[in-house]
Amino acid sequence: MPVIYEPKGRAREYSPLALNLYNGCSHGCKYCYAPGIMHKKREDYVYAKPRKNIVNLVKADMLKFAGDPRPILLCFSCDPYQPAEEEHGITRQVLEVLGEHGCKVSVLTKAGPLVYRDFDLLLKYDVELGITLLFSDDACRQRWEPNATTVSDRMTMLLHAHRENIRTWISIEPVFYPVQAISIVKECAPFTDCFKVGKLNHMPHIERNINWEKFVEDVVLALMTTERHYYIKNDLWKFASEDVRMQYKKEV
Ligand code: SF4
Repeated sequence: MPVIYEPKGRAREYSPLALNLYNGCSHGCKYCYAPGIMHKKREDYVYAKPRKNIVNLVKADMLKFAGDPRPILLCFSCDPYQPAEEEHGITRQVLEVLGEHGCKVSVLTKAGPLVYRDFDLLLKYDVELGITLLFSDDACRQRWEPNATTVSDRMTMLLHAHRENIRTWISIEPVFYPVQAISIVKECAPFTDCFKVGKLNHMPHIERNINWEKFVEDVVLALMTTERHYYIKNDLWKFASEDVRMQYKKEV
């Protein structure tokens, strides 16, 4: 059974192909949708293990996906650089397999120090390295992403990756605090090649307190100033006023 798959719905906007390497994710983000999708209790989902036989299954998938020009995202339902990776080294092995078969890969993580281990492979196979960054204030990060690395660890890691000529991107989704999201754009632009921004969903008690129309205008203006690539996800762009749509693009 293939382990590389075509995501559906909102996830498809991030990547045409994806691959999940671990069952579970120890970061324990309070807004994580993965436990619900996997029919697991949130408190159990933090115990992460490599998917059974995953490296050999990826090798088998190369019959179909070798040389496929569509990017493969690692990962949607786990973090490829969560602490379990230090013991198992699955992400490193899979990067070798994908790279040797000419696959385009994009990594998304909330980790910091462990990623340095693989800078050689990210560079060798031209892998795009992304971090999720929702909060500029680490107290907010601690509240919502209790076991993930700190804001400054993630930023520092991305800065070093950029200096090593690794392509970098930041996912700002889901947005909880518009002011912090815009601050991330401004602070990280010097070492980030692309930003992807999406709104908060499934938390109506917080969503209704955010002026999304104002936020989409503010964030597009901030992004335009950086002169970096960006992508505004559909569920956020639908709040853009006619004026904003006339003057700016959803994707650059
Ligand atoms: S890093 Fe991603 S998969 Fe892991 S707990 Fe957080 S939101 Fe869920």
